[in-house]
Amino acid sequence: MTEHHADHRADAEANRLNEIPRIPLNSGYDIPQLGYGVFKVDPAETERLVTEALDVGYRHIDTAAIYGNEEGVGRAIAASGIPRDELFVTTKLWNDRQSGDQPRPALEESLHKLGLAHVDLYLVHWPSPANGHYLNAWTQLVTLNEAGLTRSIGVSNHLVEQLERIEAETGTLPAVNQIELHPAHQQREVVEWSTSRGVRIEAWGPLGQGKYDLFGASAVHDAATAHERSPAQVVLRWHLQKGNIVFPKTVSRERLVENLRVFDFELSDAEVDAISALDPGDGSGRVGAHPNDVN
Ligand code: NAD
Repeated sequence: MTEHHADHRADAEANRLNEIPRIPLNSGYDIPQLGYGVFKVDPAETERLVTEALDVGYRHIDTAAIYGNEEGVGRAIAASGIPRDELFVTTKLWNDRQSGDQPRPALEESLHKLGLAHVDLYLVHWPSPANGHYLNAWTQLVTLNEAGLTRSIGVSNHLVEQLERIEAETGTLPAVNQIELHPAHQQREVVEWSTSRGVRIEAWGPLGQGKYDLFGASAVHDAATAHERSPAQVVLRWHLQKGNIVFPKTVSRERLVENLRVFDFELSDAEVDAISALDPGDGSGRVGAHPNDVN
């Protein structure tokens, strides 16, 4: 690569980085609104794909102990040479480590695999209500946060009943609630409860995991045509304008770049509203499990 090309690439990357807004969290830290999620990314491919994501400008990676690919994320981070403070790394506590003092060794194992001294965000992955330990898990995360092993703490897949219990019994609110959310399944009750208390919403399955035909919906298609964008870019843009934090998953470099190019156009209020109207309202747009059924 010539010096000129290297400069050009560095400039392009700096511009892209500047374009990703950062969302303030109740911990005092902030999170890049768009990242790369590695659910179902083959552990053998993870290092290569996270390296590509970092190369094209992503700085926020969402993984979990249960994904089995934390080592690959860690190797890519180490090889990147990117300063630690420029990266935002999330991982999650799996359901079988919620009881007693298990969360601490669980996080220590994740940190070891990631090769990090701390994560930026640690989440209780599912409330797993049949096991009855989510409140304990949350209390333990508060301690891990105080110990500096994670900069922010949050929950995932928690419903209002569980959030209310956490608030009432611990007085400490999560920084985020990471829930299945896309135009066909907007979980308005959970979103309203969370945002009214400053708990930020992370939308998993932001593209409906490809299982729900969001891209064929005329509201998405029409906006894509009007803005000369792909349907995926329109759906991601809808999330950003709603204030959601997103980390779409792909194993293609082309789509990694495509999913990042969502900061240089804006949907009109009418376009946002038309896409918001895609939720059938009866829960039938859900593509993942019901949160209370994952135990
Ligand atoms: P997603 O909505 O990001 O969908 C991924 C699918 O969309 C892939 O099949 C991919 O081929 C397709 N896709 C991606 N970019 C595209 C593009 N530009 N054009 C067309 N198709 C495209 O679903 P996801 O992976 O489940 O969610 C994203 C992340 O959320 C995960 O990787 C993970 O980090 C997180 N997540 C968390 C939970 C949880 O319980 N907390 C559950 C699922 C996912």
